[in-house]
Amino acid sequence: MRRLLLNGRVEGAEATDIVIADGRIAQIVPAGDARAEAGDEVVDLAGQLVLPGFVDGHSHADKSMWGEPWTRRRSIDITMDQMFEDTLEQWKLPQSSIKDRARRFLHKSIAAGSTTIRAYADVFPGIDLQGVHALLELKEELAPLADIRVVAFPQLGILRMPGTEDLLEQALKDGADGIGGLDPAAVEREATQVLDIVFGLADKYQVAADFHAHEVGELGVWLVERVAERTRALGMAGKVSMCDVFALAEPSPEQFERLSHAFADAGIAFSIGVHGLLPVPDVKGLHDAGVAMCLGSDSSRSLWSPWGDGDILSRAMMMSYKSYWRTDDDLELAARLATSLGHQALGAAARSVEVGEVADLVVLPGEAVAEVVVQPVPRSLVLKGGVVVARDGELASVAG
Ligand SMILES: [Zn+2]
Repeated sequence: MRRLLLNGRVEGAEATDIVIADGRIAQIVPAGDARAEAGDEVVDLAGQLVLPGFVDGHSHADKSMWGEPWTRRRSIDITMDQMFEDTLEQWKLPQSSIKDRARRFLHKSIAAGSTTIRAYADVFPGIDLQGVHALLELKEELAPLADIRVVAFPQLGILRMPGTEDLLEQALKDGADGIGGLDPAAVEREATQVLDIVFGLADKYQVAADFHAHEVGELGVWLVERVAERTRALGMAGKVSMCDVFALAEPSPEQFERLSHAFADAGIAFSIGVHGLLPVPDVKGLHDAGVAMCLGSDSSRSLWSPWGDGDILSRAMMMSYKSYWRTDDDLELAARLATSLGHQALGAAARSVEVGEVADLVVLPGEAVAEVVVQPVPRSLVLKGGVVVARDGELASVAG
């Protein structure tokens, strides 16, 4: 069946008609030129904006308490130790199953426009692979709605939690798409050993590697350079990413230069953290240096963080606000990080709104792209492979 989206404005341009066939964009013609055939489904977009599907490059869906009774958050210290304590505490709380909670959060993310989601699952003795298995099941269940990639993530460290390394390897045997690491230097205090483990397993199972890196200053720069060395040595350009990277928050000009070169030259993608505590990195400088980047919902409504709702356009807004981006050019860059640039960072297809591309699309009311970045509005339609999967901010029946 073909689907005709009439009178939509692709990324704010002149109105066009978009013809979708077999899940891909078959034609884009000036508004009024598309001819419907018998059996076509025709939707009049009435001049709304059309964007590529959104990318959530950093989702902790397994830890989201979305839809659960509100839990008072009392931890005051902003330290990794407090975060670890909150994580352990959260897993002890009476709450719905990981799968039910993660499904709720992923449904919400998809309804907000995310058609590609990299989801991290906590792995440590006690929790074992419950999160990995729940997310792998959801990856299959939600495949008609979004491409989900599951990263086995040692939230409490690998070396500091004996038994985690074996669990990570089992996660990869069970089908996880990637392996994570956390603060190899500052928390684990044996960066070389952690990189040996993570890169060793990534190479053995031919999967992506990712590091959360909250190291600051020179230690953080040193770590990124070590990750870059390994990435180059293993020929893993495009398959390695780093989240948060606090060293990028307040680097000296010399450190920024080293960091941006390490990322760009080794082909490491950066998942931009938007944190209340620290400045947002110089995203425009990184983009100019050729660094692949995406945005992420991060830890949303966990016991640690009440913030975040899985809406990547809201993240683009927060990043732009914290960066005091004002011009349309800058705000359009924020939208591209949420869409086409995000897809590139994850090594997915470019997913632009062009003929031949997969029809993963978001339709939303607004005059200009910059307008919906500064004021995210509910998404009118989300399409995955040409099928409407969400309407007016709510999940549609997949059959639709
Ligand atoms: Zn994270």
